Amino acid sequence: MSTAPRTPRKRVTGKRTRPVWLLGVSGQPARKIRLAVGESEPLQRFEARDLPSQADFDRAAPLAVFVDLDLWRTLRQNPPAWLAGARKVLVAGDTPPPSREEVLAQGFVACLKAPMPKARIVSALENARQAAQLFDEMAALLADAQRERDQMAHENSLLAFRQGLLSRAVSSLEMPEILAALGDGLTKLFPVSEVLAVFWDDAPEMELFLPAEAPATAKAARLDYLQDLATRVGGLPPSAYSVHEIPGGDPAARTEPGLALLVPLHSGEKPFGCVSVLLERDLDRNEQELARQAVLQLSPWLRNVLDFLRLKRRADRDGLTGLHNRRSFDTRLDHELKRHMRHKEGFVLMMADLDHFKQVNDTHGHLAGDAVLRNAAQALESGLRETDFVARFGGEEFALILPHTGRAHAWMLAERLRRRVADAATRYAGRAIPVTVSIGLASFVPGQPATTASLLSQADQALYAAKNAGRDRVGVAPAREDQRAANAAAEPRRMAG
Ligand code: GH3
Ligand code: MG
Ligand code: MG
Repeated sequence: MSTAPRTPRKRVTGKRTRPVWLLGVSGQPARKIRLAVGESEPLQRFEARDLPSQADFDRAAPLAVFVDLDLWRTLRQNPPAWLAGARKVLVAGDTPPPSREEVLAQGFVACLKAPMPKARIVSALENARQAAQLFDEMAALLADAQRERDQMAHENSLLAFRQGLLSRAVSSLEMPEILAALGDGLTKLFPVSEVLAVFWDDAPEMELFLPAEAPATAKAARLDYLQDLATRVGGLPPSAYSVHEIPGGDPAARTEPGLALLVPLHSGEKPFGCVSVLLERDLDRNEQELARQAVLQLSPWLRNVLDFLRLKRRADRDGLTGLHNRRSFDTRLDHELKRHMRHKEGFVLMMADLDHFKQVNDTHGHLAGDAVLRNAAQALESGLRETDFVARFGGEEFALILPHTGRAHAWMLAERLRRRVADAATRYAGRAIPVTVSIGLASFVPGQPATTASLLSQADQALYAAKNAGRDRVGVAPAREDQRAANAAAEPRRMAG
């Protein structure tokens, strides 16, 4: 993209002091010209063998060039190029001058012949002065027109860029895609290494967006950075957050975000988010403004998409506990199974069911039961890693997915969760209501055939075994060779909840 030239407009007037040149003019005619020019313009004389160059001419921009007729006749075959653009006065002196037509045809503004009265010289100079003024004004007009044309071309290309970006962005309701499009667009203007974003509003969680392919250490640094931004720009206290990945990113990204352009987003007066464009070099003011405008024009759309995200989130969440709901779990399990099969990695599925929960309801009432459910959900969720996933499977039953996790490690994690629930008695109406949980564990082992249904059934059988063994414990699905026997032994599956 071109930038408009920044040369300030030069309004040149004919009053500017410019030298008067004499080419090959000497003796009496030179003296007369000197007298007529007086003090107003400096006079410079050049001999035939020492003529000025184009550069001299450009620098001095002489008001008028007096050319001796004899010299002109010798020059005529091959005159210096600059002479064509000069305001020339022919000095004939005593030599008989050419015809008036010829003088004009050669581009002279006047012809002086002996005895060269002062009035004729002054009038020739005046002609030159007027021509100079006209020329300068034309040049200034042309320069203005050129500047306007450049400016328009510049604005057109910006407009095209912004329209392109806008139309790409509004064709999607997915925030990660829109942020990726923004990054692509900005990269065409200057070296952008990443686009990051954080959004918040009255929702309990802020939404953080960072590149999918960045290394884990870089992601962790960006998580901190974005939360810090929300605090600085939005004045938010640290709060819960959910992390979203923007497709793409640099697997060799630096850990620290480094140089960034921040664009806070507002709806009305209220800030609702901030986009951070990570840069590979400082931007000049034009570039900064351009980037800011590009982001700001997306702002109303980002606001819509954020609302849509929240709406979708509500549809994916369980109203009582705030955990993911069954529908969201089904989608996630399917996704994780495919992903782990592709990457040939193991993951773990857990089913957790509160023990004797009916008694809690019966003893303390349904509302107390709800509080216990919420509290148990919280205990489970807070015991998980960021990449883990927990959903309310139904009733007092929860389902958990632990990506990139092997069987042995999973048992420890499950034990930890079991203890957390047992230790987190619910305070309700002045009473402490303890509850325990039984957990069934199944693992996906790469290379072994599995479906979501087979994994769910294994976890369920393990849960059933834990219940049978006395509750408040972790059951592990039998290894594959024992599977058939276990399947045969297992009683029909209870309905969830
Ligand atoms: P077990 O140890 O075998 O799991 O016994 P349990 O009593 O927990 O299991 P059961 O399936 O017999 O009872 C589950 C109870 O959970 C019954 C149902 O009323 C209660 N429940 C399901 N959803 C909710 C809910 O949203 N709120 C409340 N308060 N109770 C619920
Ligand atoms: Mg139960
Ligand atoms: Mg149950």
